[in-house]
Amino acid sequence: MSRGEMLYEGKGKQVFATDDPDTLVLAFKDTATAFDGTKTSELAGKGRINNRINDHLMGRLADRGIPVHHLRRLSETESEVRRLDMLPVEAVVRNVVAGSLARRLGMAEGTVLDRPVFEFFYKSDELGDPLINRFHILAFGWATEAEVARMEELSFRVNDVLYALFEAGGMRLVDYKLEFGRFHDELVLGDEFTPDGCRLWDLETGEKLDKDRFRRDLGDVLEGYREIGRRLGVEL
Ligand code: UDP
Repeated sequence: MSRGEMLYEGKGKQVFATDDPDTLVLAFKDTATAFDGTKTSELAGKGRINNRINDHLMGRLADRGIPVHHLRRLSETESEVRRLDMLPVEAVVRNVVAGSLARRLGMAEGTVLDRPVFEFFYKSDELGDPLINRFHILAFGWATEAEVARMEELSFRVNDVLYALFEAGGMRLVDYKLEFGRFHDELVLGDEFTPDGCRLWDLETGEKLDKDRFRRDLGDVLEGYREIGRRLGVEL
């Protein structure tokens, strides 16, 4: 398996073709971005830590029968994944009020929800990833009804697995973003699961360990990421 041309470069990752049309290489970058890319910084070592945390969490999800694109970690910053045809939506699950939900509905950050909330966003940098619902997805043909139902089902199954996993490490999984794609006829979890795309608070103190440290200048960002890795038992 050799790394071919770069197909795409995003804010946090590069995507490379391989000699197998069904397989890609993801390379995790050290760049941190927030607020639609208006705030950026190079955090030396973030790509390596995220690659290891992602490998660990995707492995746990696969163990529990969730279809994931992740195949294996290849190097310090690279992983091999199935090539998916990505859907243009983001799926967010929330256990605790934070971020855009707090702003949109005027709710206090930290309010524990009686039951998890599921939201869809349309992936569009120009539009700032607007909130949408399943009717928009169906009306614009971004996914089928079965795919919408499957995204909801898999997103909540991820919550069951990861909420318990983080809780065992003394962390509260506040919210997270998932992306899905098609692998032949199957809907599969793509993208990544790292502290760049979720919120994790210390269960006792409420200390923020995730990317909010970067967004809000709350201290050493990578120390938070390393702490998450340590608590998960990830070799860093
Ligand atoms: N999120 C993400 N990428 C995005 C938008 C959100 O990874 O483009 C994650 C974010 O880190 C948080 C969750 O999704 O864990 C919910 O984010 P929210 O809607 O509260 O947006 P934000 O606070 O980033 O404005």
